[in-house]
Amino acid sequence: MDTIKNSHCCPVCGYNLDFMPWKGISASDEICPCCGIQYGYDDAAGGDVSKRNSIYKEWQNHWIKEGMPWKSMGIDPPENWDPVKQLKNISHNEHTPNVGIMNKQRIGEELKLQLEKGYDIVKISRWAYKLFDENCCALDPPSREILQCLFSMEDDPQFEYAENELRLLAEKLISNEEDPLKQINDLKSKGAT
Ligand SMILES: [Zn+2]
Repeated sequence: MDTIKNSHCCPVCGYNLDFMPWKGISASDEICPCCGIQYGYDDAAGGDVSKRNSIYKEWQNHWIKEGMPWKSMGIDPPENWDPVKQLKNISHNEHTPNVGIMNKQRIGEELKLQLEKGYDIVKISRWAYKLFDENCCALDPPSREILQCLFSMEDDPQFEYAENELRLLAEKLISNEEDPLKQINDLKSKGAT
């Protein structure tokens, strides 16, 4: 599975197709059984390749948002099908820059990295905003809420979190605890920090 060539991967979902979606300027007119896109129809884009890439990105965001369902009724998904792993087939593909699954754990890991560079409210706020902005469609509601809280720190001192609170938050995110923000806010209101 690791040696799949990108040319046969669906540019939307990374599924290993048994045909080429496009050969040069001619489309296969086939449908990806995984995400349901029809090459040459849904991605025609009037022949504009850069526009086609943004269509793939939109489809991908939409498909991720739906929960990465298997679309085909006639074709069954492969045994032990893993859409998250499959999506990695194209995560380094130029057609779909930076698309991964942004979840609480990943935010936690990145927050930890940011803190290692130094506790700087402005930098951390901007990092959170960038992450929010770039991954908007692929964020689940808890991740959105966390990033919104983090980038609001820059706006008003009352929204700031202390360094130890942010470190704690990062750890709670990485261990995927429920409502990590609420836990931090409870601590904050108790003045325990
Ligand atoms: Zn697909």
